[in-house]
Amino acid sequence: MSIAQFYSQILEQAENAIIIVNENDDIVFFNGNAERLWGRSRSTVQGADISLLMPPLKDDQQTQLPNQSGIGLLVGHYVELPIERPNHTRVWAEISVSRIEITGHILYLIIARNITLHKVHKALRQHVLQVMANTESLQEVLNLLCQEINRIAPEISVTIARLNSDGRLNTLAAPGFPSEYISQTNNIEIGPQSSSLGLAAFRGEPVVVRDIENDSNWTVGKHEALRLGYKACWAVPVKAQDSNVIGILAFYYRVCRRPNKLHTQLAEVATSLCMLAMEQAQSRARIHHLAFFDNLTNLPNRSLLHVRAGQAIAQAVRDRTQLAVLFIDVDRFKQVNDSLGHPAGDALLCIVAERLREAIREVDILCRYSGDEFVIVLTQCDSVHASDLAGRLLAVLSAPCQVGEVPLFPACSIGISLFPEDGQDMDTLIHAADMAMYQAKQKGRNCFSFFSGQLNLLARERFALESALREALETNRLKLYYQPQVNIETHLLHGIEALARWNDPQFGYISPARFIPLAEKCGLINYLSQWVLNEACRQLAQWRQHGFTVPSVSVNLSPSDFHNLKLPQYLEAILRSHGLLPGDLLIEITEGVLMDSNPNAMRTVNEIHALGVRLSIDDFGTGYSSLAYLRSLPVDELKLDQSFVHDLVHDKSTRALTNAVIHISDSMNLVAVAEGVEHSTQRNLLKAQGYQVVQGNLFSPPLPPEEFEKWLDKNISFTQWK
Ligand code: C2E
Ligand code: MG
Ligand code: MG
Repeated sequence: MSIAQFYSQILEQAENAIIIVNENDDIVFFNGNAERLWGRSRSTVQGADISLLMPPLKDDQQTQLPNQSGIGLLVGHYVELPIERPNHTRVWAEISVSRIEITGHILYLIIARNITLHKVHKALRQHVLQVMANTESLQEVLNLLCQEINRIAPEISVTIARLNSDGRLNTLAAPGFPSEYISQTNNIEIGPQSSSLGLAAFRGEPVVVRDIENDSNWTVGKHEALRLGYKACWAVPVKAQDSNVIGILAFYYRVCRRPNKLHTQLAEVATSLCMLAMEQAQSRARIHHLAFFDNLTNLPNRSLLHVRAGQAIAQAVRDRTQLAVLFIDVDRFKQVNDSLGHPAGDALLCIVAERLREAIREVDILCRYSGDEFVIVLTQCDSVHASDLAGRLLAVLSAPCQVGEVPLFPACSIGISLFPEDGQDMDTLIHAADMAMYQAKQKGRNCFSFFSGQLNLLARERFALESALREALETNRLKLYYQPQVNIETHLLHGIEALARWNDPQFGYISPARFIPLAEKCGLINYLSQWVLNEACRQLAQWRQHGFTVPSVSVNLSPSDFHNLKLPQYLEAILRSHGLLPGDLLIEITEGVLMDSNPNAMRTVNEIHALGVRLSIDDFGTGYSSLAYLRSLPVDELKLDQSFVHDLVHDKSTRALTNAVIHISDSMNLVAVAEGVEHSTQRNLLKAQGYQVVQGNLFSPPLPPEEFEKWLDKNISFTQWK
C-alpha cells in the first residue's frame, strides 16, 4: 500500500464525514460518512465544485473575511449549515475547515458532523416554550407538542395523559386519535394489568410493548388500539421535579417495533417539556385556588362569588327568571371562639360549610363571605323556594355536632333578598340579605327573614343615626344630666345618677333608650362609657370645689364594657386624675352583666369591687338572676325597677313584690333605691315598706349641671320632702 493509500484509508474510516477540496474548490476526497451525511455517492461529487454540497455563504461572513474566497472563507470557523439531500430531505451539519499546505499546494480539509437531532430538540423546545408563554391552556401546549413530534417523526402517533391523584390517567392530548378512542381509554386505572401507559405510570419507568396484540399485560383498550391499526406502543413517565409520576407520554406505532435513537431523544425532550407545562398548569391552578377559594372551608371566596353571581344575574336577566340571595350568619359564633378557642371555631365553620354544601344544588353558588358569614345564590328561585330552602337549611344546620370533646348545637340566622325586586346587582342584593339576616337575629335567632323596603328604610335611618352618634361623640356634643337620689329618712341627698343626653342638630332629641343600644351595636359603647365616666367624675370634683355637697355619682355601664379587662385600671386612673376616692363612684350594672358568659365580665366586676368602687344592680326585678346567685356577688345596692314603682299603688301583688325586694336587700345589707317615683303616694308606700332612698321626677327630673346646681341651692334644707 502506498503512503497515499494508507492515509486515505485512515480518513475513510474516521468517525466524521471528511471532504478534501483543492485550491480551485474542487472536491478531491469524499469519505463514506460524508456519503451518508450528504446522501450522495462519491462518484457523483468527485471533481465537482464544493458549492454543490454547501449553500451559498452569508454576506456577513464574506465581509468579515475579505481576502478569502470560496471554501477558504470558512477556515478556522465552526459553522452550522443545512444540507439539502438529493432525496429532498434536509439535515443539519456542523462543519469545520482547515487549510493545509503540502509542497506548495493548498488543500482544504472539511470535517462535518450530523447535528440534526440536536437542532430538532432545540427547535422543538423553543417552539413549545414559546406557546407555553403565550397560552394558559395546558391542552393546547400538549397538543402542539404531540403534533411537533409527529412532524419530526411521522411514524409516531403521540398521546399525553395526566396522572390524577385518584391513580387514573386522564388523556390531555391525543391529536389524530378519534374521540371515541380517547373516551374509551380515558380514566384508565394504573397498575400491573392495564396498558403500557398504566404500567409505566405504575412502575415509574418506560415500558415498551413491541406487539400489543400478544402482550399479556395489556388488558385495557387493547382492541381499540388494534382496531385503529396500532401494533406497538412505548410509554414514558413524565416526572415532576420531586420525581413523582405526574403523567405519561406515549408513542404509538403502526408496526411491531421498538423505539429508535431519534424516538428516545424526542421522548427525552418531550417529557421534560410536559413536566414544565404540567407543573406550570398546576401552580397556576394553585394560585387560582388561593385567589378564589377560602383556605379553611375550601368554599369559593367573595371574589369568586362576585364573578359567578355576576354571570348568574346576567343569565337571570336573559331568562327572565328570579334569583335569591341567602345571607347566613352562625349564631353565637363569637362565644364558641371565645370559650372553646379558635381551632374549635374553625372546626364549627367547616361543619357548617359542609352542611351547606350538601344542602344546595350544583347550580347554586355557595361562598364563605367572611368570618362566620356565608352567602348562597340560588338560581331560578322565587320566594317560595327560597323560604323552603332556608327552612331546610336551618333544620340541617342545627343538628347537634361534636367539636373535639364538646357537643355543640349550632344555629344560624338567615336573611333573604330577591332579584330583581330587592336589587339589580350583587352588592345591593347581598347588602339587602345582610339586613334581613340582622332582622332575623333580632327576631330571636335560628330563623330566617326576607328583606323588605321598610327594613331598608330602617337600616338607612340606623346608619345615618350611627354616623351622627359617632360625630356627636367626636365633637363632644353629648351631655350628662344628673338626677338626685334622696334619702327620705334623713332628708339628705344620697347621691346622683348621671344620665347621658343627646340632642342632635339633625335628628333632634334622641332618648338614651335608643342611642345606647345603637352605640352597643356599632362598637361605640366603650368609647361612650369612658366619656361618661370621665365627665361624671370631672363634674363631681368641680361641684365639690365649688362647695356643693354631693356624696357620690352613679354611672351606668353596658354589659360589653365589662369585657374590657382594662376597665378597672381606667376607673382608677380617672378617679386619681380628678382627685376622687373610689367610694365617690358607683357603677350601675344590669343583671345582663351577671349572666354574661364571657369570662372577662365577672373578673372585671370583681376587680372593680376590689378597687373600692361600689356596684349597683339597675332595673332590679326585670332580669332572671337567682337570689342565690345574687348573694355571691360583690354588689352594694339594688335599684328597684321603675315599672314596680309605677304599679305599686294599684297592684297588690306588685306591693308584695316590692316588699320582698326591700327584705332581700335588708337581709343582704344592700341599699335599696326605688327609681321612677313620680307621686307622693308612691313615696309614702315605699317609705312605709322601709325604702329609704328614692329617685324620680317627684324630687327632680334629670337636670343639666347648671340647673342641678340651682336645684341643690334651692333644696339645701330638703324640708319639703318630709
Ligand atoms: P336607668 O339607668 O334605669 O335610668 C333611669 C331612667 O329613668 C332614666 O331614663 C331617667 O330619666 C328615668 N326616670 C327617672 N325618674 C323618672 C320618673 O319619675 N318617671 C319616669 N317615667 N322616668 C324617670 P333615661 O335617662 O331616658 O335613661 C334610660 C336608660 O338609658 C337608663 O335607664 C340607662 O339604662 C340608659 N342610660 C342612660 N344614660 C346612660 C349612660 O350614660 N350609659 C349607659 N350605659 N346607659 C345609659
Ligand atoms: Mg341607671
Ligand atoms: Mg333603672
